Amino acid sequence: MNNRDIFVTSPLFPSLDEYKKVLDDIWERKYLTNNGFYHKELEKKLSAYLGVDYLSLFTNGTLPLIAAFQVLDLHRSLKKGETGEVITSAYSFVATTHAIWWNNLEPVFVDVEEETGNMDPEKIEAAITGRTVAIMPVHVYGNPCDVERIERIAEKHNLKVIYDAAHAFGVTINGRSVLEWGDVSSLSFHATKVYNTVEGGALICHSADLKKRIDNLRNFGFSGETAVDEAGINSKMDELRSAFGLLNLEQVDSAIENRKKIADYYREKLTGTKGLRFLKDKEGVRHNYAYFPVFIDEGVFGMTRDELFEKLKQNGIFARRYFYPSISEFAPYGNAKGAGRSNLPNTYKLSESVICLPIYAGLEISDAERVVKIIRWAK
Ligand SMILES: *Cc1c(COP(=O)(O)O)cnc(C)c1O
Repeated sequence: MNNRDIFVTSPLFPSLDEYKKVLDDIWERKYLTNNGFYHKELEKKLSAYLGVDYLSLFTNGTLPLIAAFQVLDLHRSLKKGETGEVITSAYSFVATTHAIWWNNLEPVFVDVEEETGNMDPEKIEAAITGRTVAIMPVHVYGNPCDVERIERIAEKHNLKVIYDAAHAFGVTINGRSVLEWGDVSSLSFHATKVYNTVEGGALICHSADLKKRIDNLRNFGFSGETAVDEAGINSKMDELRSAFGLLNLEQVDSAIENRKKIADYYREKLTGTKGLRFLKDKEGVRHNYAYFPVFIDEGVFGMTRDELFEKLKQNGIFARRYFYPSISEFAPYGNAKGAGRSNLPNTYKLSESVICLPIYAGLEISDAERVVKIIRWAK
């Protein structure tokens, strides 16, 4: 059995020879950024792969989340001096809430379901006030939210829905992309994700007009050579990373297949170890196995989550506690509406009991076997 260090994830790399060929071509073309050949190709191929009509590439996965509020005019729908509220989840990566903050809007945290880690639709409805402008749910671990119920709530209260779909690359519900729900959805193509362009991201919308606006916004707000329509930003993806992403797209299906194999292995081998809980696959959903979270019931398991985390580390296995601490515990959001522990019992419970096991395209069953053995003999 090997003894190398195993990390929770490892990036998908294209073949070096293939990438060198592409680099030769980019050197030939002498075109590095600003909607070049590879950028256009990647938008086309990604849209086809994901089954969406309107996708705009970004330089990372945080900027499309920030841009989402602007293209939906949420900051403008308010009267002067009034701050809008956005109902969201604290059980996520901190960028979700940062996107609200950067728009001068106020995050309002509601609790998640213990079963899935996704926002509880009941709690969303209860948190709506006259100042609510949007709902920002997260498909946490790539596990789709209750999209239909969220849609009904949003329609009833005339609210926009911005999905943080950073984890949900390639996820479908009954054959339809999870990205079809909501007014917009945002993806991250960071190196640690299921699919990467080194750094990168995308915003998915549902009309040509909105895509045009997003495309202008990510390019300083230029709507023509001499016209700027709004205060845009620079968040364009360049040719080198677009080309890297095009090559990686060819292997993403086999990457997801291997992730599924590892997830099945963990479930099979760890079922029966008392005090552990895993997420279940949902009927009709094509999962991407972006993460393999395990929730530890320390009283039953006989060891705390952090003890297990250290034990794995001593054995060269670097698991991660996604998402600990919960966003509501970080300094900028400690006083946000709904941030208290009593309002977020499931968020805190999951956050304090979760450990994500290694899972990625190149992980071998023998690696997963090492992880399983340590967990089973941990106590
Ligand atoms: C990774 C991630 C982001 C941010 O994406 P970057 O590409 O790293 O900027 C946003 N939200 C969630 C839930 C994430 O996991």
